[in-house]
Formats: sequence, C-alpha cells, structure tokens
Amino acid sequence: MIKQKIVIIGAGIVGAAMAYHLAKRNQDVTVIERHPDAAREVTEKSFAWIHTTHRVAPDYWHLYDASLEEYHTLQQELPELKIHWHGALTWDTPPLREQPHFQKLNREQLEVLEPNLLDYPDEAMYVSEESAVDPIEITELLLNKAREYGAKFSSIPTLHSFSKKVPAWSACIRPTVFWSRMSSYWPQVQASPNFATR
Ligand SMILES: Cc1cc2nc3c(=O)[nH]c(=O)nc-3n(C[C@H](O)[C@H](O)[C@H](O)COP(=O)(O)OP(=O)(O)OC[C@H]3O[C@@H](n4cnc5c(N)ncnc54)[C@H](O)[C@@H]3O)c2cc1C
Repeated sequence: MIKQKIVIIGAGIVGAAMAYHLAKRNQDVTVIERHPDAAREVTEKSFAWIHTTHRVAPDYWHLYDASLEEYHTLQQELPELKIHWHGALTWDTPPLREQPHFQKLNREQLEVLEPNLLDYPDEAMYVSEESAVDPIEITELLLNKAREYGAKFSSIPTLHSFSKKVPAWSACIRPTVFWSRMSSYWPQVQASPNFATR
C-alpha cells in the first residue's frame, strides 16, 4: 500500500477505528477533533451494544454480522480491549430477523439468568453472542494504538473549512455519523453491569 497523508475529521468511534486501521497499514494519519478529547459527541452517548438483531434492516444484516466477527478479531489483536460477551435480552420489540441462535426465555428462565430485574416480562429473547463495550474506552484505545503506529491527534476547536491549520493531505475522511433510532431509554432496573434494554 502506497503511503499517503490522510486527514480524518472527528475522533468518535468511527474516526478512531479508521485511524487505527490506516495507521496500522503504515499510512500517514492525522486525526483532527474539535474537542480536546476523543469520543465526546455521539459515541459518548452510545450504549455500545454489539448486536445483530435489534431493528436491523435486511440490507444491513451482512454488515452487522461482519462487524460482530471484526470485534472478535479486534479483541485478539488488542487483548486489553474489554468486550463483555455476556449476551443480551430484549423484549416488547420483536426482532426483525429470526436466527438459529436466538433463545426465547420464559419468566422463570429470565429470573435465573437476570435475577435483579424489578419487573419481568412473560417472555424475552436472549442472544448469547451479543456484547457491549465501553464506548469511550474503546475509542481512546484505538486512538492510542493508532498513535503507536505513528498517527497524530490534533485538537482544533472549530474546523469549518480546510485552512493552513490542516496539513497537506492525499485523502480527507469525514466519517458519516450513523444515528440509531433515539427511542432508547434506561429502565428502572437494578441489573448486572452492562445490562441495557430498549
Ligand atoms: C443514545 C444512543 C445509543 C446508541 N446505542 C448504540 C448501540 O448500542 N450500538 C451501536 O452500534 N450504536 C449505537 N449508537 C450509535 C453510535 O453511537 C454511533 O453510530 C457512533 O457513535 C457514531 O460514531 P461517529 O464517530 O460517527 O460519531 P461521533 O462520536 O459524533 O464522532 C464525530 C466526531 O467528529 C467531531 N467533529 C464533527 N465535526 C467536526 C469538525 N468540523 N471539526 C472537528 N471535529 C469535528 C465531533 O466532535 C465528534 O467527536 C447509539 C447512539 C445514541 C445517540
């Protein structure tokens, strides 16, 4: 791969992941962020639930599946990355996709699996393959690893247009912000760490 100067605007999870993978491939990467630190906008607010089931439109199933695999690969590459593969429970919103590894659990089974819920549904879907990460921690880890591969991080408060502040580049990447549906809420539960429902 020919070494190119690449500027990535934004140090959220997407920019950090790009920086890591490009720097690892010996590219000359500069990440520009308007906040002093990484992961201060959408990423910070994310549940960071790694899933293939919840409200996933068919056109994107393959991407969600590939992403799950990628997280396993990334965890092997970066053993310090904490991914909690303890599965996920959902109820009241039927999954858009049936998969062989889905397990329907009844109330008694749910009480055994998650004994600290205040209010139990009659039935829920359990997917043991799903997981969660700390969104800030993973973003910072990817950026730190990118730095180890030579990437630079620069905080520029308001970048409206490219000026002399930005080094000459071969490619400039502005990661698209993917919004998930904002119907999420935190229920009144006392449950295990990283347990979230929507
Ligand atoms: C409540 C909530 C829950 C979510 N839950 C999940 C979930 O469970 N699982 C999941 O996969 N996804 C979830 N998402 C979606 C996920 O969080 C986002 O897809 C992801 O964080 C987007 O990352 P990003 O890097 O594109 O954006 P951001 O984190 O917003 O990063 C963009 C960065 O670019 C910087 N920036 C923007 N413009 C400029 C500029 N002109 N100059 C310099 N810097 C600039 C910003 O400051 C910011 O740091 C959730 C989102 C929300 C809001």
